[in-house]
Amino acid sequence: MSDIIQLLPDAVANQIAAGEVIQRPASAVKELLENAIDAGADNISLIIKDAGKALIQVIDNGQGMSETDARLSFERHATSKIRCAADLFNLNTKGFRGEALASIAAIAQVELKTKQENLDLGTQILIEGSEVKEQEPCSCTKGTSFSIKNLFYNVPARRNFLKSNSVETKHIIEEFQRVAMVHANITFSMYNNGNEVFNLPAGSFRQRIVGVFGEKYNQRLVPVAENTDIVVIEGFVSKPEFAKKTRGEQYFFVNDRFIKSSYLNHAVQNAFDQLLTKDQFPSYFLKLTIDPSKIDINIHPTKTEIKFEDERSIYAIVRTAIKQALGKHNISPTLDFEQESSFNISLAQEKATIKTPTIKINPGYNPFDSDKQVSSLSNHQKEKKQNWEALYDDFEQNTKDITESTLSNFNTEPTKSVEDQFEQQVISPDWDNEEKPSTKTLVQLHSKYIFTQLKSGFLIIDQQRAHERVLYEEFIRNLDDQKGNSQQLLFPETVDFTPEDAEIILEIADEIKSLGFDFNQMGTTTFIISGIPAELKPTNIKPTFENLMEQFKLNKSELELDNRENLAVSLARSASVKSGKTLSNQEMTGLIDQLFACQMPYTLPNGKPTIITLNLEDLNNQFNY
Ligand code: ADP
Ligand code: MG
Repeated sequence: MSDIIQLLPDAVANQIAAGEVIQRPASAVKELLENAIDAGADNISLIIKDAGKALIQVIDNGQGMSETDARLSFERHATSKIRCAADLFNLNTKGFRGEALASIAAIAQVELKTKQENLDLGTQILIEGSEVKEQEPCSCTKGTSFSIKNLFYNVPARRNFLKSNSVETKHIIEEFQRVAMVHANITFSMYNNGNEVFNLPAGSFRQRIVGVFGEKYNQRLVPVAENTDIVVIEGFVSKPEFAKKTRGEQYFFVNDRFIKSSYLNHAVQNAFDQLLTKDQFPSYFLKLTIDPSKIDINIHPTKTEIKFEDERSIYAIVRTAIKQALGKHNISPTLDFEQESSFNISLAQEKATIKTPTIKINPGYNPFDSDKQVSSLSNHQKEKKQNWEALYDDFEQNTKDITESTLSNFNTEPTKSVEDQFEQQVISPDWDNEEKPSTKTLVQLHSKYIFTQLKSGFLIIDQQRAHERVLYEEFIRNLDDQKGNSQQLLFPETVDFTPEDAEIILEIADEIKSLGFDFNQMGTTTFIISGIPAELKPTNIKPTFENLMEQFKLNKSELELDNRENLAVSLARSASVKSGKTLSNQEMTGLIDQLFACQMPYTLPNGKPTIITLNLEDLNNQFNY
């Protein structure tokens, strides 16, 4: 039999390749926008008609192409962006495959006009189904304009496969947003059937997000910034109360490229885990900058997936950065008289969150000077103790200070390392200038809530929940360090359990001991408790331990918490001071101080509020002042 294998003509090969690269109008939009960015443009316009089926035009003011390059750009594997395989590991451009234009030209009628800055005339090329119809000099401005007409005109099966105009337009807008968002320094505009859809002047990342998603986003964003050797993170997450019921705006950009990563998404979700329920999703806009040699973006033709060399560290850094950001910002709900039983952030606090509170540091302060501390504070809390009233005052002050300029400068503030941020929190009240909290009015109502006055209104603290939060953080720390402080009991207590419970206790014995319990098994179901965590009162040991087990089992079946988290939550619940207990002034002060020394004072681990802020202005309004 004679030879039957032949090389495919370029036009056919290109059409086949196009099937992979250009699946729908939005894919062509993405390729053209990215080419414009790679060409160094600082002004890019996208014009579409009939959802890109009739026309996709991208106009840029980038470097343009020479006459020869203009022609070559439509060849397959023709690229100016890499020269050899090694360049793949040091990519600074969006493109590198040299496939997009060849693919587009194989399945559409394309008009290219391009001119380099120093030339009088540019070049115009008409190409249709990979066939050059015309190439001639033309007069045009510096930069490049690609018009893609009648996409898939010669691939009817593909054209018929396209979805409705509204669906295809939605895909195009999505691509446009992804590209525009991460290039805030470039001016972008978009027109659909002659109507302006976006007009985004160059600005900061925050301004771009607000430009893309609307003014109301300005108040929703909490800045995230972290600078490590492995990765630099910059961006925003939404405040927990603006979380969505469906996956909303969730954007990761790695080296200015939009990527999808369920792994990193998990890190974000995890950072929010105490603030959101399982069916709530935070919005996020996070830019990661990583040494290009430490990632591989070459694994998917449409390039939205990515491989990291050091995936686990990046996960941990993302999670920590977001936890820090959320903890640092005042995320406390405010009582809103208009909408009963819903919690909103007051405007004053919203604005205040734009700027990190400035905190006065008293260099002469000795955190272990017991005269000046509420005696019940643990060492850790002594180190971290903050003057929460001063913090609130600063919030108020910041509200007044904030102007447009601080808003736009925000992104240029140097980022602080995790250590720096902790360093900042090792602060103390300046006792000479500030009143001690204990001298302030603290009122306990219904043996349940503690009211205290702020300049801007009141705080209402739920005593049981506040204490639960305090204990929870202590216990988590003890479990992390595996050395909870234990106090030995004068009279060890004997507790009996069911065989099932005894089994559980043995299973998590190490963790229980890390919390500070000291116990031995006597027989199969009896335990002798000879030491308890230093945080607990040496009374009611038996019910506390029994409650702990009850709570642990309940959480295990209902909440799918891991053992460590579950133990901390359960013991905090069972050992916390309960509603109904009358507290002395000193106890209340101690509790509030401890609460504000927490990383996340405003909610319980399950997201329920511990504190509500009542705004004086709202109250005045209620009285018709
Ligand atoms: P890639 O972007 O992977 O290099 P493309 O097929 O998208 O491949 O583009 C081929 C080449 O055409 C690019 O490498 C670049 O040199 C040139 N080019 C494409 N678009 C533009 C543009 N808007 N301005 C200047 N040059 C461009
Ligand atoms: Mg390209």
